[in-house]
Amino acid sequence: MKESLLSLSQGELKNLIIQLGEKPFRAGQIYKALHQGLTFSEMTELSKSLRERLENEYESQSVRIIKTLKSKDGTEKFLFALTDGNVVEGVLMKYKYGATLCVSTQVGCRMGCAFCASGLNGLVRNLTAGEILGEVICANKYVGGGIGDKRKIINVVMMGSGEPLDNYDNTVKFLKLVSEQGGICISPRNISLSTCGLVNKMYDLANENLPINLTVSLHSPFDEERKKIMPVAKAYKISEIISACDNYFEKTGRRFIFEYVLILGENDTERHADELVKLLKGKPCHVNLIRLNEVKGKNLKSVTDKEAYRFMGRLESAGLSATVRRRMGEDIDGACGQLRQRYIDELGSCQISD
Ligand code: SAH
Repeated sequence: MKESLLSLSQGELKNLIIQLGEKPFRAGQIYKALHQGLTFSEMTELSKSLRERLENEYESQSVRIIKTLKSKDGTEKFLFALTDGNVVEGVLMKYKYGATLCVSTQVGCRMGCAFCASGLNGLVRNLTAGEILGEVICANKYVGGGIGDKRKIINVVMMGSGEPLDNYDNTVKFLKLVSEQGGICISPRNISLSTCGLVNKMYDLANENLPINLTVSLHSPFDEERKKIMPVAKAYKISEIISACDNYFEKTGRRFIFEYVLILGENDTERHADELVKLLKGKPCHVNLIRLNEVKGKNLKSVTDKEAYRFMGRLESAGLSATVRRRMGEDIDGACGQLRQRYIDELGSCQISD
């Protein structure tokens, strides 16, 4: 694979351009153009010979959209192709104040959660920082956005396929690249990272000085029951996860969010709600209840809307802050990994070839 220039910070790009014997100001032009989603051949400010040299030796946009699905509610789902033929997915949610993009951080996932489509075939590979950034850049270009104030994507959630903290270095590098002045420049405060609870990495993240929002997939307040739906629970206890969240709040001042997918008959009873209250009452946190998106081949059912709101009411009346997540894009395989899975099923293979 050729090195992707989207993986470089402005400083790193400048060093490279100087090494290539070019004037340093060229780095600024190339950086801006890359963040606008241009390929080398479209960078007409550059000499033809420089364009050709870059084209031969480096990758510009290492992610491209190969399929889009539009939901009745305006939500759009993208299938992104990577240069090695792998595919990942992203979801664009449109709100009044701007668009939020949900990005993938890995091809597949090795966490193996019982309800999730992303881990069905295990982990294929990590995405590079440039590829994660590439998802944001090409979706932003697709909706007509530019860089800085002209960007159309104003929030990013790392809730697509993969476990971001299992791809820690690329995730942190991506967070720095996407928020750098001069590029697309999305503030860390407008970025949320969702983890299944890799405790050690949650501590590392708290020390990065990146004020992003931390979201943890809890899905059960009982360790033994959590192990049944999330194999990662065998490695970390819920009490350890909560201590890591407390530490995150102390270090960053950011309140944290727990995601809780309501699965019929598994984690949806009053006993579960009451234990959640015991665990979380008084903490600077919020509980986001999600109705399960049923995945083909998994024998798990969602609760009804009424049941979800009843669960929420029980948390709220005990003093927890809780919401039921708005349903978006249900008609287009909205849940993690479902679109890629369908694509793979249809193709009979994990990769695409042009
Ligand atoms: N690996 C990270 C981020 C990716 S998943 C994590 O575990 O948090 C993003 C969220 O979608 C997680 O809360 C995950 O549990 C949830 N999710 C996965 N499959 C789902 C499904 N079929 N229906 C509803 N939510 C799902």
